[in-house]
Amino acid sequence: MINIPKGTKDILPQESYKWQWLEERFRQTCERYGYKEFRTPIFEHTELFQRGVGETTDIVQKEMYTFEIAERSLTLKPEGTAGVVRSFIENKLYAGQLPAKYYYATPCYRYEKMQKGRQREFHQFGIEVFGSQSMLADAEVISLANDFLTGCGVEGFKLHINSIGCPKCRAEYRKALQDFIRPNLDKLCETSQGRFETNPMRILDSKDPDDQKYLVGAPKITDYLCDDCRTAFEELQRDLDALGIEYEVDPGIVRGLDYYTKTAFEFISDKLGAQSTICGGGRYDNLVEEIGGPSTAGVGFGMGIERLLITLEACGVEIPQPDECDVFIAAMGSAAQTKALQLGAELRRAGKKAIVDVCGRGLKAQLKYADRLGASWCMVLGDDELARGVVQLRDMKNSTQTELPVEKAFEEIN
Ligand code: ATP
Ligand code: MG
Repeated sequence: MINIPKGTKDILPQESYKWQWLEERFRQTCERYGYKEFRTPIFEHTELFQRGVGETTDIVQKEMYTFEIAERSLTLKPEGTAGVVRSFIENKLYAGQLPAKYYYATPCYRYEKMQKGRQREFHQFGIEVFGSQSMLADAEVISLANDFLTGCGVEGFKLHINSIGCPKCRAEYRKALQDFIRPNLDKLCETSQGRFETNPMRILDSKDPDDQKYLVGAPKITDYLCDDCRTAFEELQRDLDALGIEYEVDPGIVRGLDYYTKTAFEFISDKLGAQSTICGGGRYDNLVEEIGGPSTAGVGFGMGIERLLITLEACGVEIPQPDECDVFIAAMGSAAQTKALQLGAELRRAGKKAIVDVCGRGLKAQLKYADRLGASWCMVLGDDELARGVVQLRDMKNSTQTELPVEKAFEEIN
């Protein structure tokens, strides 16, 4: 017996309609905002993520699925942004119309400890906007996520926002933060200690609850913003206010890599327990350059679809299940069976979900199957009906049956 790999989940046929529903809504929301879909490969050269996600992150340090083939190191994508940025540069999309607005839905791979809302293969919706330095783009990105979540029926989520400044204002903050942490450095977890020199802001994001004790009262990045970054953060808040989007300024939201700039935000659900972030995003004005393109501003988000589904369930949202079958065609006898195939094809051309018996079972078994499928109608024909050009049309809801010429039965169904 071969089992599914740990950390992955099948999306079974009886639940895939939920995914289709979400994907359709996400697509629709994005397209209403003028975003186009981007599809990039599931694997990329490992260097892309080392640079694009960052050497000091959990993802690159311990979570990547990396393999070697023909002496090239490849990695399954752990997130969606790096591949889009790589393609944006490679295809010189920066030379086209800007701002460029993209969305994607993709599987992601991270070797992590399994928990509720944390898998090794999971899925993300995401968007990216390239070529706008204005906070109007940040407001739009946040508003798109907010519209989508609200439109799906998610309740009780909170938006937390922060500004992490630019490399200029961060230099001073970094010093202040190190000075604050230094006296307790030896009490922090190993990962945090390792980040003290390379990436001290990441320590604020530590998942170790003991660490958090020593971080109470840490200096806040928002007190260190340069004039430009401070004004930008005020503009963003003003626009969110104008859109009626509620938020909380949360200095604990950090990204801590040099190419992340200004805005950082998270949508947090009160229904998820420990893995409470449904959506995380922000601005990355130096990322395109970091990956080898011309300096191009960027802002976007990534949203976990599994966490979104858990949240929807907790909110009691019932995703409508599409009808499986409009008409079932039951046939007895080989000539009638062939006719059933033809009738099925004709009904489908007319846009009906028509299912034909393909087992050659007895009538009773076929009707039972049709009933289980939730068919509204059942057409029954044997060789006798065939000879007379009629069918028995069964209304499955009322359990009534009438004999009708084939064309009349079609009219009735329509
Ligand atoms: P976390 O702090 O929960 O590990 P993260 O900062 O690693 O999140 P991002 O890289 O910002 O997450 O990814 C965006 C979103 O993708 C997250 O907010 C979450 O909804 C989802 N996500 C991230 N990792 C996983 C995972 N292992 N399983 C399921 N969903 C995930
Ligand atoms: Mg993580």
